[in-house]
Amino acid sequence: MAARIGLGGGIGSGKSSVAARFAALGVPVFSADRVARDLTRPGTDAWRRIKRRFGPGILDVEHELRRAKLREHAFADPNIKHWLEDLLHPPIRARLNAEADTCPAPYCLLEVPLLVENLRHWPVERVLMVFCPLTTRLRRLQARGLSRRMARAIMQTQAPDSQRRFVADDMLFNHGGPEALKAQVEALGRKYQRLFNA
Ligand code: ADP
Repeated sequence: MAARIGLGGGIGSGKSSVAARFAALGVPVFSADRVARDLTRPGTDAWRRIKRRFGPGILDVEHELRRAKLREHAFADPNIKHWLEDLLHPPIRARLNAEADTCPAPYCLLEVPLLVENLRHWPVERVLMVFCPLTTRLRRLQARGLSRRMARAIMQTQAPDSQRRFVADDMLFNHGGPEALKAQVEALGRKYQRLFNA
């Protein structure tokens, strides 16, 4: 069974970019976002419940959930946010843990957007946190098509970086360019190889 390293960081800090770099080194990465998308595919139980709650307007012409619209609902109303978390977080955790259970590698990464907020639910051996200054995160998220208003609204519901620093065993600083990130990931990969006898 692979050792689990939880990969967290605020929205736009660079978690997915870090995950992709580790994957390029051959490290298995299990993503909570990927599982969330899978669990809400048209016809799934969660998809049905969300459709029932919000009406058919929450679906696009392909019957896929309109995720941007759902996000607007969730950040406008904490009750909706909690309802969605109760619906999706337990099965996401179950699926990710099951994937890690059957992973034959010495260690794997679990990419979890709300890791520090829900750390007690995640049985991980180590915590790796990604950090990036707020203004850079906002700029990068805007370039990715997320409005500044929505990015800020999401950040306000997330824990501050001070809490992430408190729980982190390892830290990556993503204020530089892609090459700087790559070098840090490679150094950390060597450390994990030693730690987990890869
Ligand atoms: P997260 O998964 O934490 O939300 P992402 O990895 O998706 O963050 O990064 C947010 C955006 O910033 C993406 O568009 C990504 O391509 C870009 N990005 C991430 N790291 C860098 C970097 N070092 N230099 C430039 N752009 C970056």
